[in-house]
Amino acid sequence: MSEKSKGKIRQEELSYRKKNYFEEADEKERKAIFAYAEGYKAFLDAAKTEREACDYSVAAAKKAGFTEYRFGDPLKAGDKKYFVNRGKSIVVFRIGKKNLEEDGMRLIASHIDAPRVDIKQNPVYEDSGICFLKTHYYGGIKKYQWTAIPLALHGVVVLKNGKKIELRVGERAEDPVFYIDDLLPHLGGDQMSGKAGKIIEGEQLNVVVGGLPYPDEDAGDKIKLSVLDHLNEKYGICEEDFLSAELSAVPAFSARDVGFDRALIGAYGHDDRVCAYPALTAVLNCESEHTVLAMLVDKEEIGSEGTTGMQCKVYEDLMEEISIAFGANFRKVRANSKCLSSDVTAAYDPNFAGVYEKMNSAMISCGTCMSKFTGSRGKSGSNDASAEFVGEIRAMFDRGGVVWQTSELGKVDAGGGGTVAKFLANLNIDTVDLGVPVISMHAPYELISKADLYSNYKAFLAFMK
Ligand code: MN
Ligand code: MN
Repeated sequence: MSEKSKGKIRQEELSYRKKNYFEEADEKERKAIFAYAEGYKAFLDAAKTEREACDYSVAAAKKAGFTEYRFGDPLKAGDKKYFVNRGKSIVVFRIGKKNLEEDGMRLIASHIDAPRVDIKQNPVYEDSGICFLKTHYYGGIKKYQWTAIPLALHGVVVLKNGKKIELRVGERAEDPVFYIDDLLPHLGGDQMSGKAGKIIEGEQLNVVVGGLPYPDEDAGDKIKLSVLDHLNEKYGICEEDFLSAELSAVPAFSARDVGFDRALIGAYGHDDRVCAYPALTAVLNCESEHTVLAMLVDKEEIGSEGTTGMQCKVYEDLMEEISIAFGANFRKVRANSKCLSSDVTAAYDPNFAGVYEKMNSAMISCGTCMSKFTGSRGKSGSNDASAEFVGEIRAMFDRGGVVWQTSELGKVDAGGGGTVAKFLANLNIDTVDLGVPVISMHAPYELISKADLYSNYKAFLAFMK
């Protein structure tokens, strides 16, 4: 073998390039990547809404020996706890041995809500032989993508007497599914010449739920009546109960391996369960000396508002309660805490190369991706993490053998987006964004790499070590 030239050696010493994690991983690690994905797929199928993700997390935490925490409960080092907020968000945490004032907390914040099509409060009508539910979409969707695919209905109906009925129809093979119709191409000339944002309008996203007339000559709206009759017989619901219901139409697809080599996973709601699941499992599995919290929150897709979104005081209250339990000054605790705001980013897509700047894009399978800042235009609306903090995290990842990368979301001025990072940073907590690159984000079926999923998990373990 010929000796390397001086230039070649200098190049290897000085240059930076992203690495494909599949390529970097030895056989043992590759096995771990694929094994971890199996648990993730099961989580995706079990948890398509924030309520279901919360329930799943409670069950997983209990199984790992965690117990429920309520405000005011005593805490001691070594405690393994979970805190549930209204059944829609959850914080799973461990109390470490280290001094809280000096060491602060290690936080991972991700979200468990996902874009979908919510059912309106007065939704049921029949027209031309079909019974429909009217909807109002949730989060940023391309509306045309939600037509002509099988949908499932998930959610709760609170009856007049306060009883809560849980619905989950369309997931089992024997279940019926639901459907939003689209126009046939033969008559779609005008539609197809319009703007994509207007191809399907919000008020056209009506979900087909029935077609059988009620067997009575005298009754009007017989198809609507037979749907109401079914709901009443099966769940004890009447039409008025939709007023106090939260029902969502979500894709009825299950998570599947994609590709002959099974390197990728297609599923509904990778954003942001592909970060929530690693956050949850990392806190359940780690033995950290730090006090570590996995915060799985709701409402990120609509601005993190409300009692279950990241902007709600409840999360700060919880951190303060933990501090109080140890007689720690909450201001000092916050000042010394560190946070990974863990949300997905856009993976570079060669089929839409024009909106990306390749050098600073997240490349699929090159590991979990850090975004020093998000926002749009001149970094507007962004938590811009400091070089010092990024340097600290970088050292943690290097020590943990994490294959990771950095990115911006698309070209400068091509668009942009935000995460919960700024809300945590506003508490005087050093925060940076870290998450898995996704292809077709916010589509009914999104795509990620198993390597990036596992890299995210390893990054969390390194962060909590
Ligand atoms: Mn997200
Ligand atoms: Mn999103």
